[in-house]
Amino acid sequence: MTYTVTLDRAACDGIFACLVRDDRFTERDDGLAGIDAAEDHHDADETVTVTFDDDRFADAEQAAAACPVDAISVSAATEGGEP
Ligand code: SF4
Repeated sequence: MTYTVTLDRAACDGIFACLVRDDRFTERDDGLAGIDAAEDHHDADETVTVTFDDDRFADAEQAAAACPVDAISVSAATEGGEP
């Protein structure tokens, strides 16, 4: 399915609860999380958005749920019919 993962690096506090739920989140040089599939350059206050088309929606949702500061949001693309 297609879904979008958004990481608000301004909110991210480098707690890294997300990494163990979904290894597409990685620690960056500045001590904040990044999304692997996104371009390497993440500014500290940047919001990173990546669209995926795979079966790892649940992983991303778990990472979002685990984030104590709600820096991650996951939303399913509406087209295609999957809820
Ligand atoms: S769990 Fe949230 S605050 Fe912690 S590194 Fe991941 S995105 Fe940042």
